[in-house]
Amino acid sequence: MQLSSLLDRFAEPETLKMAKMGRELRAQGIDVIDLSLGEPDFDTPKHVKDAAIKAIEDNWSHYTPVPGFLDLREAVVTKLKRDNQLAYEPTQIVVSTGAKQSLANAILAITDDDDEVIIPTPYWVTYSELVKIARGKVVEVRTTPESGFKISPEQLKAAITPKTKVFLFSSPCNPSGAVYNKEELAALAEVFRAYPEIFIISDEIYEYINYVGEHQSIAQFADLKDRVIIVNGLSKGFAMTGWRLGYTASNTTVAKAMEKIQGQTTSGTCSITQRAAIAALTGDLQPSRDMAAEFTRRKKRVLELVKTIPGLKCTDPEGAFYIFPDVHEYYGKSDGNTTIKDSADFSMYLLNTAHVSSVMGAAFGEPNCVRFSFANSIENIEKGWARIADALAKLK
Ligand code: PLP
Repeated sequence: MQLSSLLDRFAEPETLKMAKMGRELRAQGIDVIDLSLGEPDFDTPKHVKDAAIKAIEDNWSHYTPVPGFLDLREAVVTKLKRDNQLAYEPTQIVVSTGAKQSLANAILAITDDDDEVIIPTPYWVTYSELVKIARGKVVEVRTTPESGFKISPEQLKAAITPKTKVFLFSSPCNPSGAVYNKEELAALAEVFRAYPEIFIISDEIYEYINYVGEHQSIAQFADLKDRVIIVNGLSKGFAMTGWRLGYTASNTTVAKAMEKIQGQTTSGTCSITQRAAIAALTGDLQPSRDMAAEFTRRKKRVLELVKTIPGLKCTDPEGAFYIFPDVHEYYGKSDGNTTIKDSADFSMYLLNTAHVSSVMGAAFGEPNCVRFSFANSIENIEKGWARIADALAKLK
């Protein structure tokens, strides 16, 4: 049987692979603590669930317009004005089945064969694979804990070539938790001004999970706005990962291109989810704020716990719900059976020995680090980190 060569161009998401392995161990009766997953462990806010129930009862059961219901796109426009002081028209919004599809739409709409896409490391696992699917070329720019895992204007400028088509990043960043402030974005914006042909994909899915202050979008620089594609959605900020709703805000040419792609793939997202999304985007944000406050508490606790473990170096995340410690001091060490060579071995060792799942940094383009989520209860976080400390103490 000959399958498409497309399948050889990209990898399965390491995050989902790890979650699957954790589930398999759990099915064998092993008590696995999941610190691998990227989703809030909270319920969807009640007013949003009520809107979905009403939508079912009101028979919102038909195909929807490909870019989303007009009143939902108007709700996205309202949100962008309210939260980000950005003016868009509904024709510039494309609603999708999640930020992941929005990213796929955007990358497929603007990337041609061999176009270069600059992605600062560490980056969300899917970015590089979507670029490969689109036959573009990934250009990684390595950032370090010393720079807060943020790309500098000098690094950006040095990575740009005549083939550069896109700059793709997230702020807040999964996995590092880096959040670019206004000044840092202004410095990058200054570089982009010299290269008007480069698109910027700005993934803002963790917007509401921010520990350092107001969220800033690079689209707020008026002269760049037309070539920025904002990607956002409901998964993280409203605890709605399973509902599948993302959206983009872009210029209308790109929006139409993305609509064309979506029209031949998913036709857009679920009608019930779309009705619920209007309630989420225009309703009370207190549940999202409460969730962020709880993440703040957990972040503080997990950083206290990590500090007590020798050999782990961890930056304080400014957003999202992960820590991304540098673990490379353990490379070359062994418990007598297993030798840790790299971040994949480190993650597997913790899964098999401590029964705690994490995600290897190599999947995010950073081989020295491993990602641990704190989207889990304080009780599980404490239990998980106690097990990790015990397992790491065995490595000599
Ligand atoms: N972008 C980043 C940085 C993410 O971490 C995720 C999910 O983990 C997504 C996009 C995809 O989100 P969605 O559930 O809306 O597809």
